Amino acid sequence: MGLLIYLNGTFVPEEQATVSVFDHGLLYGDGVFEGIRSYNCNVFKLKEHLERLKASAKYIMLDIPLSLDELEEAVIQTLQKNQLKDAYIRLVITRGKGDLGLAPWKCPQPTVFIIADKIALYPRDFYEKGLDIVTASTRRLSSAAFSTKAKTLNYLNNIMAKIEGKNAGALEALMLSQEGYVLECTGDNIFIFNNKELITPPEHTGILKGITRDSVIELAREKGYRVAERPLTLFDIYTADECFLTGTAAEVIPVVKVDARPIADGSPGPHTRSLIKEFQKITTELGTKYEL
Ligand code: PMP
Repeated sequence: MGLLIYLNGTFVPEEQATVSVFDHGLLYGDGVFEGIRSYNCNVFKLKEHLERLKASAKYIMLDIPLSLDELEEAVIQTLQKNQLKDAYIRLVITRGKGDLGLAPWKCPQPTVFIIADKIALYPRDFYEKGLDIVTASTRRLSSAAFSTKAKTLNYLNNIMAKIEGKNAGALEALMLSQEGYVLECTGDNIFIFNNKELITPPEHTGILKGITRDSVIELAREKGYRVAERPLTLFDIYTADECFLTGTAAEVIPVVKVDARPIADGSPGPHTRSLIKEFQKITTELGTKYEL
């Protein structure tokens, strides 16, 4: 049986969950979204995701036609209708249907949809052996052009880098800023350990402020690690003791090679392993619980 999709206030079978070809989300990537996960009937950090969605929408001056409570309810209902304990949830709000011009004020009604699907897990191997990643030549969009803090439907910049990664046989690609600082991967934030200090690029340098990133920073501090948010260069990555990525889909995943250079001895490090375990614990604890 197919999925039931939340679309503008009603639930429809996936075959009927369609949007207009005049929707500006499709024509111009004009919209915002969130990727969220539920773990054993707990939507991990749902409130934080909804707050980020609200901020992204505010930044592009898109009025969300629902309150945060109503959005929360819609997410939970989507999970319940589809009887999903563990799921990947995609919540999207586009500018809606307009004409062929750019003008967002010609789109009277935003389109809101929520898809809750079974989670497609990365193969277990990657968590045990670690990922090989490469640096993309495509630089991350400058935040002078557009804030990367907003999670919008404009992902072409990241898609270009993802293609470069694939062409080099890597699952993820590392993106640098215009100045050459390390920022993040196409869909994940990056961390290194050096002398037991956990370091990640600061949010103002032009990254998406990941919810998983923030959770890992908090966890690491609780576990007594020194944590710093400061600019990183490729030198820092190549010479790090450990490296890992964080994201809603990937969770916490070790990186063992960057640009064909092994990180330390080329296997996942002990601190990364310990954070992976700690992170797994909180996925069912922190968030919004629901019943099926
Ligand atoms: N950076 C980018 C560019 C992303 O698309 C994502 C995934 N949404 C992340 C980082 C990780 O963010 P989060 O932990 O909130 O999923």
